[in-house]
Amino acid sequence: MKESHCKRGRVYIVGAGPGDPGLATLRAIEALRIADTVVYDRLVSRELLRYVRPGTRLVYAGKMRGRHTLTQDEINRILVEEACQGRIVVRLKGGDPYVFGRGEEECMYVLSHDIECIVVPGVTSAIAGPAYAGIPVTSRLAASSMAIVTGTEAEDKKAPRIDYKNIAKAVDTLVILMGVHRLEDLIRELLEGGLDPDTPAAIVQDATLPTQKVVEAPLAKLAEEARKAGIRPPAVIVIGRVVELRKKLWKQA
Ligand code: SAH
Repeated sequence: MKESHCKRGRVYIVGAGPGDPGLATLRAIEALRIADTVVYDRLVSRELLRYVRPGTRLVYAGKMRGRHTLTQDEINRILVEEACQGRIVVRLKGGDPYVFGRGEEECMYVLSHDIECIVVPGVTSAIAGPAYAGIPVTSRLAASSMAIVTGTEAEDKKAPRIDYKNIAKAVDTLVILMGVHRLEDLIRELLEGGLDPDTPAAIVQDATLPTQKVVEAPLAKLAEEARKAGIRPPAVIVIGRVVELRKKLWKQA
């Protein structure tokens, strides 16, 4: 679309939270209420779509690893095209849009077309997932630092390679997203990096949803236990002494 023909609406890049619709923010709901167009992802709670006004355009942009319904370029273009009709566009993404969400890429694209872009942070599965399984990601008792890493290297290799071996030693709690499909390799790298095979570890599948499933095992056994339990994406892997606190926190979780 020619810039001169652009009526310049507005784009909100909104975090929907990890799954349970109750974990969406008030700001997210407000944005949905005023939206003319909502472009939403696969992991977003469909219940949140009830907050839109009748007549709002709903565009499914769902992605699965290797099977994209819309390419990232197509999504970017839709955001700009819709906003250029003078519309308020909500780009609704799972968890937090700036935690492995590519929200920053979308916002940069929108801004580069001179269209206003507002980010609405969300509750990330990296923190809420462990929490719903009774695992705090930090603790005065067990962890003063944590890292959130992806288990999947960016396909286009624009992201720096992940140094799992050094990360493993550098932080107390390691949270891995998008790692289930290569769990065995990841764990091997962490063990080679010097992590104790007995380091407490857990996987939380479908965190915050009624289908939530948790597997807890020492790091060296985690892949095997996850396989036995039939763990599938989406799932958060959490590694570190904080996992032990689950024994005391689980009842309240
Ligand atoms: N922006 C999102 C993460 C996107 S990457 C966020 O902040 O949560 C997608 C990965 O997030 C999945 O592969 C999985 O590791 C994790 N994830 C998202 N929702 C999840 C859920 N309900 N339960 C467990 N893991 C989840």
